[in-house]
Amino acid sequence: MPSAHLSPRSAIGEALLTLGDRWTLLILVRAFVLRTRRFGDWRDQLGLSESTLAVRLRDMVAAGLLERVPYEDGGRTRDEYRLTPRALELWNLLLAIWRWEQMSIDDGGPVLIHDRCGRSTHPVLGCGACGEKPVTARDTTAERGARAEFARIAVPRLHRRAKELPTPTDPLSYYPETMEILGDRWSPAILAAAFLGVRRFNDFKSELGIAQSVLADRLRRFVAVGVVHAPSHEGEYRLTHKGMDFFPVFAILVDWAQTWHHDDATRELTIRHTACGSRLEPVLLCEVCGEELTRSSVHFNL
Ligand SMILES: [Zn+2]
Ligand SMILES: [Zn+2]
Repeated sequence: MPSAHLSPRSAIGEALLTLGDRWTLLILVRAFVLRTRRFGDWRDQLGLSESTLAVRLRDMVAAGLLERVPYEDGGRTRDEYRLTPRALELWNLLLAIWRWEQMSIDDGGPVLIHDRCGRSTHPVLGCGACGEKPVTARDTTAERGARAEFARIAVPRLHRRAKELPTPTDPLSYYPETMEILGDRWSPAILAAAFLGVRRFNDFKSELGIAQSVLADRLRRFVAVGVVHAPSHEGEYRLTHKGMDFFPVFAILVDWAQTWHHDDATRELTIRHTACGSRLEPVLLCEVCGEELTRSSVHFNL
């Protein structure tokens, strides 16, 4: 057994650490949809402080999501930030989050147009191997690899959840429910464990290496936003329909994490499409024409 300080964090834990932050997600959405690349533009769009923005951009460069590219600005050279190939692959994740919000919270907001068929559409999760759609959580099985600590992400962070800054409320921002699930590093890990069948408080605790008070707080928030049922008298926390509907986001996050954070084939978690038996390669398909919704084939009408 390698000692704890030598063992690398798991790919999924690493991804949650990178993405489990509300500002990071909001910075990414604007980079995708508005093609925002400059410090001052994000600052003005998001209304966050320069110091907060600077820290996030620095972390995102370190995490390989953004790269600095110099440009000329009135005789001065400044840096702008471009999405890296690994960040561009997050398009599907953002699209899946948007779809969950529409299904579960409010179907107003931006309209997604598929340029290939010209229709307004919604993404549907499909299996990249056999092409079946839709694929739901119930159509899959999850196999845990030897690396049982897949979601261990117990790394201290400076920005803590308690510090709630108001996020903007324009059409490109997320709903509070979404931020309860994705806006900090622990919440998506808890939801991931729930998808893998963890039900009891103590099992979440030992599975994730999470402090009791933090876990209690997050489960309470999950119950409040309706993704987890209030605990049964056996003390089990089960996903609601609204929670189960989050599966495409989970599947895409796992796929992205394993693609970009590990070179070797060691998989800590394999999500399998039961019908065809293949490892699930999540793809988002147009609900109208059935073709894949690639980043260059869609746009949002804001
Ligand atoms: Zn399949
Ligand atoms: Zn289409």
